[in-house]
Amino acid sequence: MAKKSTAANRKKFLADLHEHLLEMKTKLINEIDSELKAEREGNKDEGMDTYDLASEERDREINFILSDRERVKIKQIDDALGRMAEGSYGVCESCGLEIAQERLEAMPFTRLCRDCQQDMEREAKSQRRFDDERNTYRKLGSTDADEDNI
Ligand SMILES: [Zn+2]
Repeated sequence: MAKKSTAANRKKFLADLHEHLLEMKTKLINEIDSELKAEREGNKDEGMDTYDLASEERDREINFILSDRERVKIKQIDDALGRMAEGSYGVCESCGLEIAQERLEAMPFTRLCRDCQQDMEREAKSQRRFDDERNTYRKLGSTDADEDNI
């Protein structure tokens, strides 16, 4: 099949993706629920009063970390669904062109087309190289002229 993106198959593609994201979200929420339930039940067996406070605090911490990580995922899904609802989904935020369907399939949360993403990565890489060079100089400088140990 030709990969030409007509308005009709774009619409169909987005509708399918919308469905897919909703499924992902439901699955994610179910997973979190059962993880939390398993944790709560696992802790019922350690019924020692003196440890209750400590383990409650630890639970809170675990739950916080878990839900924080999962919350990011759910937020990404919600963002995408929101953008679908307002019709801005699948449009590059940088250049305003449609993002290719293959790219959206692979990365449904992306907000940039491939070209803009590559530009950004190139920029990030040159920034990193600059930082690396500075670190290397600093390292060389500290080993070569380590006068504190002489
Ligand atoms: Zn772009």
